[in-house]
Amino acid sequence: MMVPDQIEMLEVSPRDGLQNEKTLVATADKIALIEHAIAAGSRRIEVTSFVNPKAVPQMADAEAVCEGLPERDDVTYIGLVMNARGAMRALATGRIDQLGAVAVATDSFAMANQGQTSDGSVEVAKEIIALSQAAGKTGQVTIGASFGCPFEGEVAQDRVVAMAVALADASPVEIGLADTIGVGNPAQVAALVAKVRAAVPHIPVRVHFHNTRGTGLANVWAAIEAGAVTVDASIGGLGGCPFAPGAAGNVSTEDVVYMLERAGVRTGLDLSTLVSANHWLGEIMQRTLPGMVAKAPPFPKQA
Ligand code: ZN
Repeated sequence: MMVPDQIEMLEVSPRDGLQNEKTLVATADKIALIEHAIAAGSRRIEVTSFVNPKAVPQMADAEAVCEGLPERDDVTYIGLVMNARGAMRALATGRIDQLGAVAVATDSFAMANQGQTSDGSVEVAKEIIALSQAAGKTGQVTIGASFGCPFEGEVAQDRVVAMAVALADASPVEIGLADTIGVGNPAQVAALVAKVRAAVPHIPVRVHFHNTRGTGLANVWAAIEAGAVTVDASIGGLGGCPFAPGAAGNVSTEDVVYMLERAGVRTGLDLSTLVSANHWLGEIMQRTLPGMVAKAPPFPKQA
């Protein structure tokens, strides 16, 4: 296996990064975060989710965030939705280019996350993708808890592969494999990405890692070596799932970009702009963020 010379990054800080934060972030600051990401080179951004504001108060301003999105033809704005109602809300804004659906690999987590069985979540995800296509947009899907479940423990790889095959029928632009609770390891990641690639070779694989146990960057490397072409990451390493006990932050965008660019894999993102964005976001959140690279001196030394 060889790593490719370029991959695509998908910025998830405005949604996954913020959704678990107790302090409500102002809509203007969310838009500023999106502007920082664009300035750093992000061209795919998960900007919000259209979910029940009682369940996820941080995302209650989804429509207002969409209204403030910069007018950019070259940026794909993604809205995460859990059901047809959320899909209709997202499409009604006129600003969402792509719907992101979520199917969950286990019944217990699917129930906690979206009140469905695992099979039910596959059917709803297919419906969401169909709604996006009917509206002239694109749809993609992420398989949550692909590498382990907070309630059921180990997740059989065959289950995730079978879900990918079923989801592929809806023609998503990609299938994401998410380590929602950050329990995966590189050997497991390499094996699952390879199996999904083999089962649905016509659909690109995206990966989504949380760094709960420090394996995030190793998992990114294993995933792209196994053929994943898009990597989710969050500026500063913010993130977590309100419905997954103990979930911690996403892999930090600047840490992934440092690792990959130094290793000769182009990401399209500018590291120093990302480090500035980390420092800005740390001021908004009033704490030092988990990402490592932004705490370290620049390397190599700037001329
Ligand atoms: Zn996540």
